[in-house]
Amino acid sequence: MTILVDMDDTIEQLLRAWIRRVNEKFGRNASYDEVKNWNVAAVYPGLSWEDVYTVPLEPGFWGTVEPIPGAAEGLQKLMANGHDVLIVTATPYQSVPEKMTDLLFRYFPFLSWNQVIITTRKQLIRGDVLIDDGIHNLEGGDYAKILVTAPHNRDYDAEANGMIRVNNWDEILEAIEKLEKK
Ligand SMILES: [Mg+2]
Repeated sequence: MTILVDMDDTIEQLLRAWIRRVNEKFGRNASYDEVKNWNVAAVYPGLSWEDVYTVPLEPGFWGTVEPIPGAAEGLQKLMANGHDVLIVTATPYQSVPEKMTDLLFRYFPFLSWNQVIITTRKQLIRGDVLIDDGIHNLEGGDYAKILVTAPHNRDYDAEANGMIRVNNWDEILEAIEKLEKK
């Protein structure tokens, strides 16, 4: 199968690093679990959208983002099983060099640049399945949909919307096995 895999909060922990940095920079103590929707700035009353959303563009930021446990092993397993694994990430162009060097190829060195697609329009990418925490990337896509639980999608009814909800990489691998049998 062609397996499309999101990057932020699917194979690495962007949200945790982001909140950690905003807290540190502005003396706040917001928590990861407080994020209820896509707008991270909502957990920071008094801070502007720019205050919060320019943080991932700061030099050195991507080197503070850690991989999700099991993601590297999971991706390697999928590749060893003969799947075509492609990372599909919507990221501001300014972040690309650092995000690739300090994060993707640092923790996932078995991936090559030929396996990376940068786009904000994931529905245009052809694949058998997309693994993503962003509902907006899954909805309307012509692929099977695996939704990775994140604080902002916790209340979303994945099943009713034709998606398989998973909580970790073990569950992702199980879901892929089930899709393979279909
Ligand atoms: Mg994501």
